[in-house]
Amino acid sequence: MLFLNSGALLAGAGAVGFYLQSSQADAAPFTTPLLLTAAACLGVATWLSMARGVAMRVGAGGVAFEKADLIRVPWHALESVAIEGKCARVRGQSVLGAPVDEMCNLHTYRGAVAALVAESAVRVPHVLQGKIRETVGAPLPAAGELLPLEPVQLAGRRCAHSGKTIAFESDGSLCKRCERIYLRTAKPALCACGAALD
Ligand SMILES: [Zn+2]
Repeated sequence: MLFLNSGALLAGAGAVGFYLQSSQADAAPFTTPLLLTAAACLGVATWLSMARGVAMRVGAGGVAFEKADLIRVPWHALESVAIEGKCARVRGQSVLGAPVDEMCNLHTYRGAVAALVAESAVRVPHVLQGKIRETVGAPLPAAGELLPLEPVQLAGRRCAHSGKTIAFESDGSLCKRCERIYLRTAKPALCACGAALD
C-alpha cells in the first residue's frame, strides 16, 4: 500500500509536468532545458501494471520499454502510433538503430498510451494514426510514476545536419522537441522537426 500511495503522489507530479509542458507549448515551445537536458528533472511516466507485460516510459526522452535492457525510441525516431484491435502499436527505431515494434494492450497501458499520444501530439503529431486521440483520451493525472532521465550522450553521435561525428559532449546540441542531435557549429536555425534550435 505504501508503494501505491507513493506511486500516486509521484504520478501526480508527473501529470502536472505533462500538463505544464502542453499548456506552455504555444507560448514558449520547449524553452525549458531542464525538461530535456537535466539528468534528474524529467516527466517520465512509468506504468508498472499488476498485469503482465513490459513497463512503458513516456517523457521528454521519448518512449521506452523496459525489457532486459531499456529500449528507448527518441521522438524523432518514432514512426507511428496506431490502434490495432485492443492494442496501441508503437513503431520506430531505437537509439541503437534497431527497429522497434511493440503492441501495448490498452487495458494494461491506457495511461501510458494516453501520455504517449499527448506528448506525440505536441512533438511529432504526424506519427499519430487514425482516431487514436479520440480512442485513448486524455492522460490521467493519477497514473504512472515519476522517474529521472539519464542525460543523452552526445559524444560519438552524428550531427543530423552535417553528418559529422560529435567528438565532445560540449560540441553537441539537442533539439528539445524531437531529440535530434546537432553539432553546435553546424546546426541550422530550425530543426528538421520545425523547432527553433537554441
Ligand atoms: Zn527537432
